[in-house]
Amino acid sequence: MIARLTFILVVTLYTAMAAADPAYLLKPARVFDGVDPKPHEGWAVLVRGDKIEAAGPAIAAPPDATVVELPGDTLMPGLIEGHSHLFLHPYNETPWDDQVLHEPLAVRTARATVAAKATLMAGFTTVRDLGTEGAGYADVGLKQAIEQGIIPGPRMLVATRALVATGAYGPKGFEAGLVIPQGAEEADGASLVAAVRRQIGAGADVVKLYADYHWRPGEPSRPTFSEAEMRAAVEAAHSAGRIVAAHANTAEGMRRAILAGVDSIEHGGEGTPEVFKLMREHGVTYCPTLAASDAVARYRGWNGADPAPPPVAQARKAFDIARAAGVTMCVGGDVGVFAHGQNAREIELMVAAGMSAAQVLIAATSGNAHSFHMGDQIGTIRSGLLADLVAVEGDPIRDVQSVRAVRFVMKGGMVYAK
Ligand SMILES: [Zn+2]
Repeated sequence: MIARLTFILVVTLYTAMAAADPAYLLKPARVFDGVDPKPHEGWAVLVRGDKIEAAGPAIAAPPDATVVELPGDTLMPGLIEGHSHLFLHPYNETPWDDQVLHEPLAVRTARATVAAKATLMAGFTTVRDLGTEGAGYADVGLKQAIEQGIIPGPRMLVATRALVATGAYGPKGFEAGLVIPQGAEEADGASLVAAVRRQIGAGADVVKLYADYHWRPGEPSRPTFSEAEMRAAVEAAHSAGRIVAAHANTAEGMRRAILAGVDSIEHGGEGTPEVFKLMREHGVTYCPTLAASDAVARYRGWNGADPAPPPVAQARKAFDIARAAGVTMCVGGDVGVFAHGQNAREIELMVAAGMSAAQVLIAATSGNAHSFHMGDQIGTIRSGLLADLVAVEGDPIRDVQSVRAVRFVMKGGMVYAK
């Protein structure tokens, strides 16, 4: 009797579960799991609810599963954008200053919803969005709208307003003493720690610090925060379980940020072998944002041919030095400087700059997930992880262009149609 009751209970539970949790059996030509550089030919992936239930050869379809045939396609983990600005749009459409100063928040937010959908449909199921650039805390609301299913979009790690030293950021070049709306929150010393905590309280998942910037229009970047200021900010962020990203282009800005304990450095154009060695020793991830300098150079008339203009050449050189030093690479293009949905540009440029497609795609999936402390949820095709899955036509390990040919997007077990 007990056995029979248990049986009925199990069947009832199973039926209830099955009714609540739709299952999919995805049958691509091959699976790139986000870790192994070699795709697994003939594998299938079973999804139930929002999770991956199984991945491997010869998985039978449960009776309630919807079978999705993806012939010729490679199924891979949803790509992770390491450096986005969903509240910016390309600078050749509207210069950054004008976006910050003249676009109403409602317009910026409406545009961000379109950017979020374009990102997801390009196969990027998670973004680390590194600052709204003057759009306040609207990223927190955008993230909520996505989580509540009001609009389609990627999972978001948000930085809210980001933090700059007083006087360092922009828009700049106005009559001295006038209060001009800024692209990030100004704070220093003790007020910096307070601002970190305020941003976290308001919804920041990641704290973004500008370790250097050009103080006056036209001058080169120079350090902004002291190492001690950044160390206190990092302590406040880490004690709240948040990661810290530092914008830094100068060797000294990078050095201070590394010693202060940040988790990633963005841009790093002037990084020296010594600084990248220090990054490796401290386990700091590097986001080279090759696509940003490439896009800006093209807006200024560059046609992409060699010789590359100095900012592009500098970014490529830093990339080479960082690779030689064995620094962990983040894939993040600073998308927003260029069009949302074109996120794959950074992947293509990293391959063009000498990394193999497999290395870049591992970095864009399990690598970014690990760097952002989300490796136990996303970035790998493995039983128990969230079902964020993308199918692309062909084999992106052989031909990286294939990441542009997105045929199927699933996030948290939900299929998103174009
Ligand atoms: Zn950026």
